[in-house]
Amino acid sequence: MQKFHATLYGYHMPAMGTAVSAYFVGQRLFIDNMPIELHSSQLSVSVGGMEHDELFLNWCDSEETQWALKAASTADIDIIVNSAPAALQSQLSKWHQRHRHHKTLWGLLGAAVITFVFVMAVVLWQYQHMVSWVAKQIPISTEQQLGQAALAQIKAEGGIIESGKAIVALAKIGNKITRGSNYQYQWLIKQDETVNAFALPSGIIVVHSALIQKADNAEELAAVLAHEVQHVEQRHSLKNIIHGAGWAVVLAVVLGDVSGVTAVIAHQVGASYFSRELEAEADKLGYATLVKANINPDGMASFLQKLADLSQQQPKALAWISSHPDTLERVADIKQLLKEQPCDSCKPLNVDWQSMQQALPKIEHLKQ
Ligand SMILES: [Zn+2]
Repeated sequence: MQKFHATLYGYHMPAMGTAVSAYFVGQRLFIDNMPIELHSSQLSVSVGGMEHDELFLNWCDSEETQWALKAASTADIDIIVNSAPAALQSQLSKWHQRHRHHKTLWGLLGAAVITFVFVMAVVLWQYQHMVSWVAKQIPISTEQQLGQAALAQIKAEGGIIESGKAIVALAKIGNKITRGSNYQYQWLIKQDETVNAFALPSGIIVVHSALIQKADNAEELAAVLAHEVQHVEQRHSLKNIIHGAGWAVVLAVVLGDVSGVTAVIAHQVGASYFSRELEAEADKLGYATLVKANINPDGMASFLQKLADLSQQQPKALAWISSHPDTLERVADIKQLLKEQPCDSCKPLNVDWQSMQQALPKIEHLKQ
């Protein structure tokens, strides 16, 4: 005879029950120190608890009062299962199955919740890497479609120069910077009185005529080009688009549906506002590009400084820095690069700067 610990609940008893010990002898259940003796035919088994891991033995007394005996622990449940008479075993085995079933369900649910939280944490933590990865999955041919679609819109606005002396000089500087690239660059000038330059996906670089007029030498233009080229090389537009288009697009690309993505994101190509991180990256890698091409990188700091000064006077005419925040901070970062990584072997560009400027068609309202 093995005793088990339990809590007795019943009519007129305190809500928390009374701790007792009990035991089976043959078909009968006895409770220590209580005038209670029950036959197995009076007993029924039920389960309780959040995880269905509590075992109750229930009965009604002769006055129809409900009583229940709750096993104190899983060890006590084992004693009940092992010592209960055969008549209760079928109920106990059913409880056993139900209990295990619930336990499995709760276990699975718990594992699912933990997995979900973990996956979300990794996804958020690795978000920038995910965006970069997705951007890398997009083939150059898709980029070309996006870039050409955006260029068609810009051409429709008018003022695009695609050939002539100034374009030859621009391409000469640009090709020096982009030697060895996977992209086929296209160099264009837009007649526009705002000081601006921008890059479209797949290597379309558009420089406003006012920017060329404002630059003092070819090295300053080269610095702007090197920066814009890095927006292309690092696929910043695509990253922007993916970022802006949200998870539906990320998921579509992950699932291999690039064609669908093109339609979703095509209309966003024109937007050329990049995050501070992407701008800093374009500056830093642009600087390295200039050094690699043996072009004096001083122009990067001097042109930005000039724009910072001018922005005090003509903020509206300087789109390139209004789309590029924290100009003075950028100047400071580039000056730091000039100190840390000077280019002693860099040479002046072999470009007749004045005749390039003069080759540009005059704009009557061009701000001086
Ligand atoms: Zn930029």
